[in-house]
Amino acid sequence: MLITLNQAAQKLKSANKILITSHIQPDGDAIGSSLATLQIICALGKPAQIFIDDDIRKNLHFLPFFNEIQRPTENINFDADLLLVLDTSPDRIGKIRDFINAPILNIDHHVTNKNDAGDLYLDSDAAATCEIIFALANELNAKITPEIATCLYTGLATDTGFFQFSNTRAKTLKTASELVNCGVKPNFISENMETRSLNEVLNMRTALNSLKIFYGGKVAGMLLDLQTMQNCESTEGFIDLIRVIDGVDVAFLISERSKNVCRVSMRSKGVDVSKIANNLGGGGHIRAAGCTLYKNLDDAEKILVEAIGKTL
Ligand code: 5GP
Ligand code: MN
Repeated sequence: MLITLNQAAQKLKSANKILITSHIQPDGDAIGSSLATLQIICALGKPAQIFIDDDIRKNLHFLPFFNEIQRPTENINFDADLLLVLDTSPDRIGKIRDFINAPILNIDHHVTNKNDAGDLYLDSDAAATCEIIFALANELNAKITPEIATCLYTGLATDTGFFQFSNTRAKTLKTASELVNCGVKPNFISENMETRSLNEVLNMRTALNSLKIFYGGKVAGMLLDLQTMQNCESTEGFIDLIRVIDGVDVAFLISERSKNVCRVSMRSKGVDVSKIANNLGGGGHIRAAGCTLYKNLDDAEKILVEAIGKTL
């Protein structure tokens, strides 16, 4: 059921023990919003914990209270009376859903949110879930410490491509400005986020070597096979290498994660890629979306290129 931000704040206030989670393949917004909310809830005097059912890329380990994040194990034992799901619908939180029965409070900015579990506060105009959490903190009269501000700014910056994408609005920049007033050092966050291992840059080279152009230059794609992926800790940002090609509307990256499991990322300058992803069982935003195709790399490429072609 859709609720207001004020109702979401009331639900947090009336809960006793809160379990926070976010999506698998977590990004800066997923982790930033989880860590900021943890601190806000703890300042309300309530116990809370974060469980994320996936690895978290090294660039995010600098965030304040990062070590509070736990991986769920079979014997997870947390008697929370509220499950707070951030930056995704509750269908992308991995094992967490099976471990805990508490009512769900979902806070998200994805236009593709399925709204099929618990209470949902959805603001699809928000550039990032972190932008919503900033408003929620104000609703709760919570003090924005430099640590909370650092987490929120990181999510805001990463989901907007450091304030370059079309989701960057006046409100986004105003929120960023207020967070800087609260103690954020933008250069510190940028430097942490842009650092890559040599191996990652070499994998970028492999990705670029796989570049293919379709539909007279409107679509560009890269393919990473299982062998390459086994030596690749993250593909974050790879797609941006080809998103920028003059004349390209849709860019995609397909990475083979295991036999017949291919992850797809898409970026666009015009076409609504969230619709394409949604039709293929995934989701996302108009200009950034993804899905998983349970096919081999060749078939995944065929299916995706055809699906993109129908929208051009
Ligand atoms: P990325 O390409 O960076 O992995 O994802 C781009 C956007 O699409 C993000 O907002 C991400 O949350 C969303 N997204 C990516 N893959 C999926 C998916 O399989 N399902 C859904 N619902 N959203 C996805
Ligand atoms: Mn997000």
